[in-house]
Amino acid sequence: MVQRPYGRSRILVTGGAGFLGSHLIDRLLERGSEVLCVDNLFTGDKSNLDHLAGHPRFEFMRHDVCFPLYVEVDAIYNLACPASPIHYQHDPVQTTKTSVLGAINMLGLAKRVKVPIFHASTSEVYGDPTVHPQPESYWGNVNPIGVRSCYDEGKRCAETLFFDYQRQLGIDVKVVRIFNTYGPRMHPSDGRVVSNFIVQALRGEDITIYGEGLQTRSFCYVDDLIEGFVRFMDAGPDVHGPINIGNPNEFTIRELAEKVLEKVGGRSRLVNRPLPQDDPTQRQPDISLAREVLGWQPKIELDEGLDRTIAYFRKVVEAG
Ligand code: NAD
Ligand code: UDP
Repeated sequence: MVQRPYGRSRILVTGGAGFLGSHLIDRLLERGSEVLCVDNLFTGDKSNLDHLAGHPRFEFMRHDVCFPLYVEVDAIYNLACPASPIHYQHDPVQTTKTSVLGAINMLGLAKRVKVPIFHASTSEVYGDPTVHPQPESYWGNVNPIGVRSCYDEGKRCAETLFFDYQRQLGIDVKVVRIFNTYGPRMHPSDGRVVSNFIVQALRGEDITIYGEGLQTRSFCYVDDLIEGFVRFMDAGPDVHGPINIGNPNEFTIRELAEKVLEKVGGRSRLVNRPLPQDDPTQRQPDISLAREVLGWQPKIELDEGLDRTIAYFRKVVEAG
């Protein structure tokens, strides 16, 4: 990363008012950087950044990454994009634009100011995988015209752009494929499974298992993920990825529901709801590459991560 001659490095985080972005910003500020957060607040919330009000090294700019951005920075983390299926399916055209135009605009910025750029891709590029667990070499099994395609294909096209900018123009890109991550600051109505189940259990509402709950996911706690991000960015100009970051411990959705109910207690019932279209049946990262290249592996297992996340949502739910 470029160091300014008379100051700290200034880092742009797009999507910084969201769940992952706000944790990343905390980590970058702890490391002594200046941070410019760019977000259009579509799914993010400024309350995720309230604790940074008045911080001398933090700046917020409301901006949509579908439009060009002219700023001077030393590195870019591009996280802007709705991540929850209910949010990215709300305005699918805008989701594809955010992924693709956002990638073009942020890569253009990286090219102009000659800095490394990190991109938040996703395990969704593997679609409903026929290879298990999923290594980075797997090309995926994605429906190009289904309800999840705006997100999956948008992210796949963004990956294409990142690697073409790398090959064609020599841009130092870092593409991470994130597997299901959870933790404090997910929005209580975010719709993703961990926050949904915890909030439902805390409110004594039915816990909604889609389908039979036999589909699997592998859940990574946010602090582990952010450590992987920072190691990747620090890894130097020869490491571009894509690299899977996630926790390989795999659970069925029913197991997750039972675990959450056991931890929260209360009177919630487990109920079944229709399985959404194209819902992947299994997902587990092969993290051999992250272990080898970044010396990274997750440390916080689901029990501990759920305890921390439940403690956070308990306060949110109590505050109303
Ligand atoms: P999130 O919805 O909490 O955060 C996304 C942020 O991007 C929000 O603050 C939102 O307002 C902002 N945003 C959306 N469209 C924008 C636009 N056009 N211009 C500017 N800002 C915009 O989601 P998250 O979980 O924090 O996800 C962050 C990134 O990580 C996303 O790119 C997502 O695809 C990726 N990802 C997350 C997970 C996960 O499990 N959390 C898994 C795979 C990939
Ligand atoms: N899911 C569920 N109940 C919910 C929310 C989600 O059973 O209230 C299921 C969903 O169908 C999927 C899994 O949990 O199989 C993970 O969903 P999520 O939206 O968190 O992320 P995905 O990995 O599907 O993008």
